[in-house]
Amino acid sequence: MIVFKFGGASVKSADAVKNIVSILQPYSEKIVVVVSAMGKSTNALEGIIEDFFKKNEKGIKEGYKKLKDYHFEILDSLFEDKGHKIYVEIGEVFEELADRLATEPTLNFDFDYDQIIGFGEILSTRIISQYLSHAGLKARWMDVRKALKTDNNFREGHVDWELSSQLMKERFVFDKDQILVTQGFLASTINNINVSLGREGSDYTAAILAHILKAESVTIWKDVPGVLNADPKYFDDTVLIEKLSYLDAIELAYFGTSVIHPKTIKPLQNKNINLHVRSFQNPEAKGTLVGNLKYDKLVPSFIFKMEQVLIRISPLDFSFIDEDNLELIYGKLYKNGVKINLQQNSAVSFQVCVSNDKRKIRDLVDELEESFKVSYETGLELITIRYFDEGTIDRVMINKTLLLEQRGVQNIQLVVRDLGS
Ligand code: ASP
Ligand code: MG
Repeated sequence: MIVFKFGGASVKSADAVKNIVSILQPYSEKIVVVVSAMGKSTNALEGIIEDFFKKNEKGIKEGYKKLKDYHFEILDSLFEDKGHKIYVEIGEVFEELADRLATEPTLNFDFDYDQIIGFGEILSTRIISQYLSHAGLKARWMDVRKALKTDNNFREGHVDWELSSQLMKERFVFDKDQILVTQGFLASTINNINVSLGREGSDYTAAILAHILKAESVTIWKDVPGVLNADPKYFDDTVLIEKLSYLDAIELAYFGTSVIHPKTIKPLQNKNINLHVRSFQNPEAKGTLVGNLKYDKLVPSFIFKMEQVLIRISPLDFSFIDEDNLELIYGKLYKNGVKINLQQNSAVSFQVCVSNDKRKIRDLVDELEESFKVSYETGLELITIRYFDEGTIDRVMINKTLLLEQRGVQNIQLVVRDLGS
């Protein structure tokens, strides 16, 4: 059995869905196909959720209509027979969404978010599963929420491995089918309340399924040729990294390489399952292989995180940053769900670089100001170079001012401000 994961870009249109059929056709193995929401549907749903929470009726209505039109347009190009049962299925999913949007929001934004965000994956998997069958493949739709169980940490559920293992082994059974189509990103609590695994979490779902069901390999089909040594958005002359060890992959993912979700590697490494990152636009190409590999040529990788905030925290009375202060600061970061991208401290100040989620940062700073002097700068970049040397540093520092630097043996991280070109 193998696991394939198709992200939003690979299922964003009717043509993209047709392309998936041609990717799958040559395979005779059993395949679990994990799918994300189509195109930018998750972002669209996030907009709808904001409006739902603010009770902006007009916004909800417009967002809903756009999402519905988008999916029905894809359906119309995929299925000529307008009597096909998929039209009823998708109609029902939209009715369910409309019912949910007609309810009152609770006081818990994260809970409401998870009750709505998953509609994107339900829609995409319904459509793709039916289309694969329509194209002659033996495919069946599976509701991952019946088998993937988490706690109720909404928007980033923690997996209950034991229970999920038991349920998945019971449910993910192929029988006469060759392909099981299921949702990335989604899970539920033991009480069947929807929980999501965090944005871009579908890779993680693929890894969890592969781990539990003992897959031979996982392939993530992307709109890039594989793992590149930098994001082409920020860098010309990128190179494809053909082979990556689990350790390098986890480091790169941790620092923010967007091709692989950071949680994806561990479940695969633990069972020695190979991960392939390949292009759905060029399915013949081999892409990147991540596994238990050794190599001697170390390619420097560059990771750029934009929209960073550097927060400087110092005790009000010029006392040291000691363990008591750190405990308080970490507690506030954790409570507000703010993740540290980089941290550094001196005697009387502690600096953290975090991604700019405005809602969270505002709450965090308000709380920290009760006990500390706090200042912060926004609009910064965090650049990480793995396997750096002086030449690679010079390359990224053109037209930037340095605010903070941290050097290790293999990695360097630089918080910089771009001076504009
Ligand atoms: N659709 C979700 C997102 O865009 C999950 C994923 O794509 O991995 O975050
Ligand atoms: Mg997505």
